[in-house]
Amino acid sequence: MMKTANGFRYVPFITLSLSEPEPRIWITLSGCNFKCKGCFSIARDTIGEPMTVDGLIHWVKKSSRAYNGNTLLQDAVITGGEPTLDKDFLLDLVLNLKRSVGVKHITLSTNGYLLDKEYVMELKDAGLDGVKLDIKAYNESIHQWYTSMSNRSVLKAARYLWESKLDFRVETVLMPEIVDVEEIERIASFLAQIDPGIKYKVIKFAPGEAREKVTRRPSDNEIQLAVNSASKYLRNVAGGKACVQQFASPGSREEEAKKWVRVYPDMKTETIIAKPGGFEVS
Ligand code: SF4
Repeated sequence: MMKTANGFRYVPFITLSLSEPEPRIWITLSGCNFKCKGCFSIARDTIGEPMTVDGLIHWVKKSSRAYNGNTLLQDAVITGGEPTLDKDFLLDLVLNLKRSVGVKHITLSTNGYLLDKEYVMELKDAGLDGVKLDIKAYNESIHQWYTSMSNRSVLKAARYLWESKLDFRVETVLMPEIVDVEEIERIASFLAQIDPGIKYKVIKFAPGEAREKVTRRPSDNEIQLAVNSASKYLRNVAGGKACVQQFASPGSREEEAKKWVRVYPDMKTETIIAKPGGFEVS
């Protein structure tokens, strides 16, 4: 029998991939405890419909059946906003995605602020497989200025996540003159003290998608410089774009040919096709 959290989260939409052989879903839980100036997520605000875990699981199953038939979902990414705001809700969601929906691999995308050691282990026990942690800045005053919150618990969370042996990776957005190459190097050095094998990705700031255009888009050369600096400390460093699905909005200029469907709480849908030159939304 499904265990249901007492609370609910607001969910604006769920998103299914249509161009990959292995079906994948993104579950967007809206609302966030950070106020990142360059946030590109519309889900930072509490938007969408209030959902219990029970209701959300039902919606996921119905949408998945409509687009994937009987093929089991390979991956689920729980994202936001910030998914950890209601700890019981997230635990139940992970548990039921595994047990009731049969998702093979679940990843949590988080700012890490609310992840303490005990909660990380509870999530793992519930069935969580991986975590993508955003470290916005290493310098406390930059982090405070950019997010409105301290980074102390985020940095502690990095250690807990590594100790948990979950599939763990870290991302940072390179923002010229704010979170610059030196700051990336400080983050890489910090992570290397935990384990030089931690996977780390440097993402390009995209002012066109940001709430506040706090800086310009870094060049490919600057990304490469940041990757090179981080690689002095870490073995697995990559540079590039954030998940293209997160940027999927009309007028965006990502260049990967991919296709998703967004399913809204009333089961209305929006198909998003990313192709060279822009997005088509129908
Ligand atoms: S943590 Fe993520 S969703 Fe929250 S404000 Fe920052 S970028 Fe936006």
